[in-house]
Amino acid sequence: MKLIINNKTNYLNDYFFQTLILLYFQGEKFPKDSINEDKSVTFDLEERDGGVHCRVCVEAMERTETGEAFITPEMLLGSENDMSAVANAAAGKAFLECGKKLFGFELPWGQLTGIRPAKRALGFLENGATESEVKEIFKNDYSVSDEKINMCLDIAARQREILTDVTENDCSLYVAIPFCPTRCDYCSFVSYSGPKLFSLIPSYVDMLLEDVKLTASLVKKSGMRLTSVYIGGGTPTTLDTLDITRLLKTINESFDMSRVREYTLESGRPDTITHEKFDAAKSCGITRVSINPQTLNEQVLMNIGRHHTVKQFFEAYEIAKKYDFEINTDLIAGLPNDTFESFEKTLSDIIALDPDNITVHTMSIKNAAALRSENLYDPKGEMAKKCVSFAYNELAKNKYSPYYLYRQKNTVGNAENCGYSKKGKECLYNIMTMEDRNTVFACGASALTKIVIGGRIERFAFPKYPFEYLQRGNNIFENEILEILDKKGN
Ligand code: SF4
Repeated sequence: MKLIINNKTNYLNDYFFQTLILLYFQGEKFPKDSINEDKSVTFDLEERDGGVHCRVCVEAMERTETGEAFITPEMLLGSENDMSAVANAAAGKAFLECGKKLFGFELPWGQLTGIRPAKRALGFLENGATESEVKEIFKNDYSVSDEKINMCLDIAARQREILTDVTENDCSLYVAIPFCPTRCDYCSFVSYSGPKLFSLIPSYVDMLLEDVKLTASLVKKSGMRLTSVYIGGGTPTTLDTLDITRLLKTINESFDMSRVREYTLESGRPDTITHEKFDAAKSCGITRVSINPQTLNEQVLMNIGRHHTVKQFFEAYEIAKKYDFEINTDLIAGLPNDTFESFEKTLSDIIALDPDNITVHTMSIKNAAALRSENLYDPKGEMAKKCVSFAYNELAKNKYSPYYLYRQKNTVGNAENCGYSKKGKECLYNIMTMEDRNTVFACGASALTKIVIGGRIERFAFPKYPFEYLQRGNNIFENEILEILDKKGN
């Protein structure tokens, strides 16, 4: 897509405009050399008369549509005197007007981009706003639908309750195992699969164990309390029993585990789960696992290249039950060639299993070409939107409440990813990492350490791929992290 930005203000960057466009045009790319593109969007922004005026022109699908908005600081309810928020709102509203004319539908999350919705809602509530004031802010400033506002408020209220005894001194550990038995077609994570790449596993685990030990010494120096441990991926149970045991034992021996409230081994792919691995996990203190069918429709599983069967999911689930783990199951709404009826059946079969957590993701599209050429996805995302709304209502009827939420770029229908749980079964790590309220110490390829001190966040991203991680050596941020922690001590 050709993107022309005539921005005469001092606010907003190119990335903001690109993200905004993806709300209606999922998977689009914005090449520098875009002479032959069949679509274009032009933004004209200027600061005048105490506010920001924006005009947007979209040329696509052999049509031209325009939208306009003029916003002043007084018109925004949630960002007093913040001209950057004013520019954001002007561009967002003008673009949404174009999108609605062009596509004939509105977006459930309006122009909300780059903001964690529940975090925003919780922030307003903690600063003294009432629920009805937060509703007004979300509606007026971001054009969010009533259903999504209610979802945000449900989550914010729940997180407020859960976080009452969590302070900035509580921290989490995240350990990345970026390996999977095979690669799912829709995957956008860093994950290696196949015999050649699996040959890296022994040296990867060796280096990871050293990182775990180093990280434990950083946590000790920080004076923080380790409250949750999350081993994610990839699929951590791709490792064999011996490596799982080595990893868990090293964590247990290196950290003070006495305050750890949950210890998660994301198992993900049912085809990696065995009695032996869960036996080892249980004896090393794991309390929670995640077993993810994504769908219980055999044909859709095949379509998305997931390489396991529905039967394997139920077998893996039974194994996990024997060990009395808390269980999460992940589902995806809007999978290629899936239907609402199939999603409805999957959800009802999962509810019948009575897991502690059910996470409903929305399919994310990797590129626009897939959308156009293979006709796999509905650009309006009507089915995905219907599925996530259905899940919200159906799960509430079955005593599951939403407790964390995040949104990704390029999701079908612009819908969200939302974690639901029974009361008291929320995953603390998910809240701590999503809401950026606590430090997360991370180890492994593609992992992100986030140090939160005095509300300020410092991020340290590990090399993305295992082979880069192996080349770069152990905890490469040790000195920088120590410097920040020293300042905290002073
Ligand atoms: S199991 Fe998850 S991380 Fe692994 S390939 Fe599939 S989608 Fe990617």
